Amino acid sequence: MDPQSQLQRDTEVRFLKGVGPRRAEFFAQLGVRTVADLLEYFPRDYEFLPPLFLMEEMNPDQSVTIAGEAIDLRYVSRSRPPRLDLTLRDSTGFCRLTWFHGGYLRDKFLPGDKIAAWGKVSRYKEILQLVNPRWIKIEGVEEIERRQNVGEAIYPASSDLSSGEIARVMRESLKFMLEVEEERYGQEFFRERQFPTRREALQWIHQPPREESIFQARRRLVYDEFFLMELGVALRRERLQRTQPAYPLQIDEELDKRIRRRFPFLLTADQDKVIAEIGADMARSQPMNRLLQGDVGSGKTVVALYAALLAVGRRRQVAIMAPTEILAEQHFISIERYLRESRVRRVLLTGGLTGAKRRELLGRIRQGKIDIVVGTQALLQQDVEFKNLALVVVDEQHKFGVRQREIIRSKAQTPNGKEVVPHYLVMTATPIPRTLALTVFGDLEVSTIDHLPPGRHQIQTYWYPPEKLPDAYEFIRKIVKQGQQAYFVYPRVEEEPTEDFSGEQLKAATVEQKILQAKIFPEFKVALLHGQMERELKQRIMEDFRRRKIDILVATVVIEVGVDVPNATIMVIEHAERFGLAQLHQLRGRIGRGDQQSYCLLFGEAGTETAQQRLEIMTQTNDGFRIAEEDLRIRGPGEFFGTAQHGLPKLKIANLLEDMDILQMARRDAFALAKKDPELKAPQHQALRRALRETFGEDLILGDVG
Ligand code: ADP
Ligand code: MG
Repeated sequence: MDPQSQLQRDTEVRFLKGVGPRRAEFFAQLGVRTVADLLEYFPRDYEFLPPLFLMEEMNPDQSVTIAGEAIDLRYVSRSRPPRLDLTLRDSTGFCRLTWFHGGYLRDKFLPGDKIAAWGKVSRYKEILQLVNPRWIKIEGVEEIERRQNVGEAIYPASSDLSSGEIARVMRESLKFMLEVEEERYGQEFFRERQFPTRREALQWIHQPPREESIFQARRRLVYDEFFLMELGVALRRERLQRTQPAYPLQIDEELDKRIRRRFPFLLTADQDKVIAEIGADMARSQPMNRLLQGDVGSGKTVVALYAALLAVGRRRQVAIMAPTEILAEQHFISIERYLRESRVRRVLLTGGLTGAKRRELLGRIRQGKIDIVVGTQALLQQDVEFKNLALVVVDEQHKFGVRQREIIRSKAQTPNGKEVVPHYLVMTATPIPRTLALTVFGDLEVSTIDHLPPGRHQIQTYWYPPEKLPDAYEFIRKIVKQGQQAYFVYPRVEEEPTEDFSGEQLKAATVEQKILQAKIFPEFKVALLHGQMERELKQRIMEDFRRRKIDILVATVVIEVGVDVPNATIMVIEHAERFGLAQLHQLRGRIGRGDQQSYCLLFGEAGTETAQQRLEIMTQTNDGFRIAEEDLRIRGPGEFFGTAQHGLPKLKIANLLEDMDILQMARRDAFALAKKDPELKAPQHQALRRALRETFGEDLILGDVG
């Protein structure tokens, strides 16, 4: 019995015909170990043979396949470049095949060999020829017909394993391999979606009978890939929602009025909209899981504070967390502005607080004598215990972390022995492109603030080569003289002893601050701010800048987040090409916060095309969404996220940017299924369950709580 007919999904490829231990090693280097892997090792392209022509019928510029007998072989070593000419004859005429540098083909052909060749026809001195054609030896025309009916898959290959060799293994074994594949959905599903079966799709993707079948196969396989991913997300969400209750926190008119009185302005329509969404979530006894996105300065903090005051109004505690201490302090300061003279008990818990003072504070939090605790994300990991934590707000700015969500759930309270999970609101100022919102953040609801509060001016952004910098000084001098303030931003704190690989010496904040103060702006106060400075010093400088005791602040990216000084209207960024798009946009968000016209001046040399694209986009738009989409397009999803830990899925065939419509369909279907059968118990869902487990491992379905 043919061993090929007993394949399992986890059969190693070395047992396939024509593979063996050595090739198996090469396959392993391409990430292919088992039959299941090989089935999903997808071609990157296809080649279809052009139509078969009789030689007398063909004309220059046509793409043709011809078949004939080799009658003359000639190697012309003296021509420049040297070439090999092979003349073929069929029943109607002659054609010459020419390969430049074709010496290596000399002993491949014998007179009388039957050859098929394909390529584009050209004419050389009245003779029709194919230059550098692809070719095979054939027994008869049937072989050409077979190959015309099935596209030849081109696989991502390595120097050890060519695409042709991979295709050969597929030709030998695909039929048997397909046996291990089970259908994942029911009959009626195919009819609705007009998808091929899973087996058909896999067969067509590797050996497409027609060109259209590639498209159909791909749609089905992309769908499958997205569906599994979304099903994982949906099941996880179902489980959390069903198993873990939260404090229901209802809003009423009176409380709403009390909260709004805290703000010295009317909330914008967008703020009202997202507050309604958040309020509806928090009123339920299932934990809210919501992402609040909105550009820098769009008024997210105000919304978060509304949610916090809603919880406090219901006598529950709130934790507000930021990625850095500076940012936590900023939040605390802006919250203070709104809460002055209110009875809300709020504290800033920083790393600087130690000893008895810290213990005392932790005690008050534990006893429920504090309403709002602001701090960094260390807040949840440490020894901080709450009495009745009902809401966690995380400001991630442009950092996306999905991990701490798990930690937050582990902070569940257990009053009367019952676990209660806090509602969760994460804010980000880097708008998340829709594709990512549906995948990585797929288990969060999304609220978006699209419009900035009224009265803002568009920031004008310009990009100049570095040598233009002196021209900018006079402009800056004029504006600072009028009483406004400016930032200068550098990629480094200190000058590095060595030049970087581009041979460029990067300017550093410490050095430039001295130069700017002594040589350029002696009449102004120029100060320095960077992340390595003492906390107290940093705080004092920020405070002085806010009070206009400092005119020009020279800084590193520490100012990227949270700094809110509306009177600062100019930002100069040197070596702008060194910063990512999201980072540039964040930095720029520090200006344009007041009612005066603001200017962002980028200085930099765009050495690469992507650097140039980045800087140009910055000058073209202030729209954070467009910038995020561009960023994703320029860098690709992997880079966009930076690290793998952010949970971006590894996709084998689907493309997050191009297959949006299929993603949405798969997501809808997956969420509907998860609702119907949240534990995938139904017999007809067992195939899916197995596929899910094979792709993500057991814990994704069966529980990763706590
Ligand atoms: P974000 O957190 O999204 O960056 P903030 O909440 O810090 O934005 O708001 C940015 C600025 O806009 C703050 O100075 C804030 O006081 C102001 N602001 C917020 N909402 C409004 C509003 N509805 N009307 C006027 N100004 C507002
Ligand atoms: Mg903010």
